[in-house]
Amino acid sequence: MENNLTIKGVSDEVLECQKCGKVELKRTIVLTDGESEMYYGSQCAARALGMRRKSTVDRIAEGRSRKPKMPIYRGGVLLGYA
Ligand SMILES: [Zn+2]
Repeated sequence: MENNLTIKGVSDEVLECQKCGKVELKRTIVLTDGESEMYYGSQCAARALGMRRKSTVDRIAEGRSRKPKMPIYRGGVLLGYA
């Protein structure tokens, strides 16, 4: 049983669950124990964190990895956000 794990964010670079070895995930949840990072599928992440719903884990992870968006202007026209 893992202890002291916290959600750091999501990764779309590591697509293999380091807990159960499941591959071809859409993304993984990045967990950390304060020293190292682990990439778990959301189901395994939820279990490791003692959370009942993986949707809760997804929501927290997305919130933590969202970077503030910067507006892009060209010629005074807002083109979008990066
Ligand atoms: Zn897994």
